[in-house]
Amino acid sequence: MIALEEAQAKVNRELRVLVPVDVPLADSLGMVLAETVAASEDIPPFANTAMDGFAIRAADTAGASKQSPVTLPVVGTIAAGSVAPRALGQGEAMRIMTGAPLPDGADAIIMVELTRPAGFDVDLLGEVPVGNHIRPAGDDIQAGAEIFHPGTVLGPGQLGVLASLGRQHVKAYRRPRVGVMSTGDELVEGPEPLKPGQIRDSNRLILLSLAREAGFEPVDLGLIRDDEQAIEAALRTGVATCDAVLTSGGVSMGDFDYVKAVLNRVGEFSWMQVAIKPAKPLVFGLLDDVPVFGLPGNPVSSMVSFELFARPGLRRMMGRLDAERPRVQAVAAEPLKRHPDGKTHFSRVFVTEDADGFHVRSSGGQGSHQMMAMAGANGLAVVPDGEGIEAGAAVEVMLLDRT
Ligand code: AMP
Ligand code: MG
Repeated sequence: MIALEEAQAKVNRELRVLVPVDVPLADSLGMVLAETVAASEDIPPFANTAMDGFAIRAADTAGASKQSPVTLPVVGTIAAGSVAPRALGQGEAMRIMTGAPLPDGADAIIMVELTRPAGFDVDLLGEVPVGNHIRPAGDDIQAGAEIFHPGTVLGPGQLGVLASLGRQHVKAYRRPRVGVMSTGDELVEGPEPLKPGQIRDSNRLILLSLAREAGFEPVDLGLIRDDEQAIEAALRTGVATCDAVLTSGGVSMGDFDYVKAVLNRVGEFSWMQVAIKPAKPLVFGLLDDVPVFGLPGNPVSSMVSFELFARPGLRRMMGRLDAERPRVQAVAAEPLKRHPDGKTHFSRVFVTEDADGFHVRSSGGQGSHQMMAMAGANGLAVVPDGEGIEAGAAVEVMLLDRT
C-alpha cells in the first residue's frame, strides 16, 4: 500500500492546466479567469442619487427643520434612465428617483422622508451636507483600474461586475470535459425487475453529478459490459472526446476486472493500493495524453476516490487554486470506532457547526456499498489508523458541502 499523499502526487504530476478559451460570460460561472481585466469605464458611469428624494443645493437647506421648513419650488422630475432637461438653479428642487443622474447645479440629495409636499413646492425639514446621498461617477470602479487578475474564480459577483462593464466574453480556463463510464456485467438501468445477480448502475449518475457539481462538463460514456473490446472501445471514444475519463469498477482483484487489464495493455498505468478505506484500489495514467482514473466499483468507494483524486486533480486542470475541499478540526459527538489496518479511514459523517465549532457524528453504516450513509453525509472524517476516535476527541473532517 502507498500513502494517500503519494498517490495524489502521482496523479497531480501528470495533469496540466487546460488552455484558456473565450467563453460567453453567461457560461463562465465557476470558471477561472485567465486574463487581467481593466475597467473600460467608470462604474457608476455618472453621479447619481442613492435615494428617492429631491436634488438641491445643500446651502439652500441652511436652517431647515421640522418646525421651520425651507420651501423650494419643484422645477422637474428625473426618473432613473432619464436626464434633467436643464440645470438646477439656486433655490430650486428637482424630484429625483434612485439611480437617476444628478442634474447640473445640484450638490446634494435630500431624501423624500425628510421633506413634505407643499402644493407645487416642497418643504425641506432638515439640513443636509454637500454630497449627501450622491454616488459619484467611479465610486465603485474607476476606468482603467485593474479589477480582476488571472486565477480569480468567476462567481455571481464577478459576473455582475463584468456585465456592468459590458463584457460579453471572458478569457477563462476551460472546464474539463469529464467522460464517465460504468463497467460490470451485473449492472442494468431502469425500472425493470432485476434478474438474479443483477443490480442497477448507480455510479455513473453519481460520478456525472459529482463532475457537474465540481464545475466540470460531464459526458456520459455509457454502461459497458465486462468485455475487453467493449471497454477498450469506450475508453478510446472517451479519450478522443474528453479531457479526462473516469471509469468505475473492474480495478480490483477479481477474475473479471478487465478495466485494469485493458489499461495495462493500451498505456502506462499505475495500479495503486492506497492506504485508505474506502477506495483502496486506484488505477491512473494517461491514454493518448488524456488522464484516465480507474475508480473502484463500490459506490461509496467511487465517490471517495473521486473526492480524493479526481476532483482536486481536475479542478487544477481548470485553473482552480482551491482544488481541495476545505478541512476543519471538529469534535466527535460520538465515538468513531474502527480497527487498526494500516489505512486512514474516511468515515461518512454529518457535520454541524455551532458557537463551539464543528461537531461530527456518523451518518450511518460505513460499508463501501452503503450509499445511504453517503447520501446523508456532508463530511468525511479523517480517522487515522488505530482504534478510532473517542467521543469528545478532535477529528479532522473534509467538508463535502463546501467547494
Ligand atoms: P468491481 O470493482 O467491479 O469488482 O465492483 C465492486 C463492487 O461494486 C461490486 O459489488 C459491484 O457490483 C459494485 N459496482 C460496480 N460498479 C457499479 C456501479 N456502476 N453501480 C453500482 N454498483 C457497482
Ligand atoms: Mg466489476
